Amino acid sequence: MSDLQAKNKKLRERLAELTSEAEKNHVIRERSQTRELGLLQAESLQDLMERMVAGLANSFGLSNVTLLLCDPHHEIRHLLMDSMDRDEELPGVIYVDTMTGLAPQFTSLSRPWLGPYNAADHQLVFPDSTHLKSVALLPLIRQNRLMGSLNFGTTDMTRFTPQHAVDVLAYLATIASFALENMVNRARLVRSGLTDVLTGWHNRRYLQDRLREELARARRDRLSLCCLLLDVDHFKRINDQFGHLAGDRALRELAQRIESQIRGSDMAARYGGEEFVLLLPATLVVDAVDLANRIKEAVSETPITIDPNNAVTMTVSIGVSSCLPDEYEQDLKTVAEALLAAADVAMYKAKSAGRDCVKTADQP
Ligand code: GH3
Ligand code: MG
Ligand code: MG
Repeated sequence: MSDLQAKNKKLRERLAELTSEAEKNHVIRERSQTRELGLLQAESLQDLMERMVAGLANSFGLSNVTLLLCDPHHEIRHLLMDSMDRDEELPGVIYVDTMTGLAPQFTSLSRPWLGPYNAADHQLVFPDSTHLKSVALLPLIRQNRLMGSLNFGTTDMTRFTPQHAVDVLAYLATIASFALENMVNRARLVRSGLTDVLTGWHNRRYLQDRLREELARARRDRLSLCCLLLDVDHFKRINDQFGHLAGDRALRELAQRIESQIRGSDMAARYGGEEFVLLLPATLVVDAVDLANRIKEAVSETPITIDPNNAVTMTVSIGVSSCLPDEYEQDLKTVAEALLAAADVAMYKAKSAGRDCVKTADQP
């Protein structure tokens, strides 16, 4: 009897242990699921990266989380900049050209690596900290390619050791890789909807968004913003005489000539068929008019080759407008419309004045 009782007691104890373990596992699983869902529910590339870095640091209670991305063509960085309303780097996100030479673990990282922090091995992965004691490096792999890593660092020596089960982290890394690839693809799509296929320039939709951002920045920094509207003179004649394909080629060449004159900080968009808009941040009207004249010369000085047998001299009429958003009471949408409308008026003045010239809105 006492034997049975003892057995029974042991069983009950074991059951209590198992129940407690199951409860613990349940809590862990629920917490992991919340994290994974959080990544999958990100709204944009920026949101996802913030969730991966600051979000996971917070939820795991870690002092350091970094996201390393292999981005040799600066594509992810540019996609992120497009989706952000400010020109800043996201904290904790590190872009590299290649995954080699960063940490010895990356040479064959197919599962999370957990172990002690070693400054010589891990300083490139955690550039802002030298006081870490243990780290977890989670590979981000898509289609058998290591596209980056999610890195956890802590001052707790026992937090990440090779003895730890890595399944939960491995699963998190898989979800993170999936979410990242998905969001990069989505950002690519959005961008392609904002690009003109003929010239590769931004399109009108992009311009409208960007113009408001530029105005907000100009208002904040108390700087003027200039706008150039270019319209090709008698473009219909080129189409009529040489066909649409030749016309397309001429437009592409024209866009290149315009591009050769502008600065990296200027924004160029194809506004309509043979109309282009340039936004010039932090530029005075006199300088904008100067630039417009240089563009006018670059277009007309040598004929544009449209097929092996033909070259035509093209000219453009350019309208210049400017504003100091600080001076305006109205909302930015209204200011944006006024800026474009003024450039349009100026452009028509140039047409009336005989084409192949530059006018500002207040000129006769
Ligand atoms: P103006 O000096 O008054 O501007 O004369 P225009 O002939 O340039 O003016 P209009 O706006 O009447 O004609 C523009 C022409 O541009 C008509 C349109 O078919 C052509 N066009 C618009 N987009 C494209 C394009 O992508 N490719 C080609 N080949 N032609 C285009
Ligand atoms: Mg036109
Ligand atoms: Mg025209």
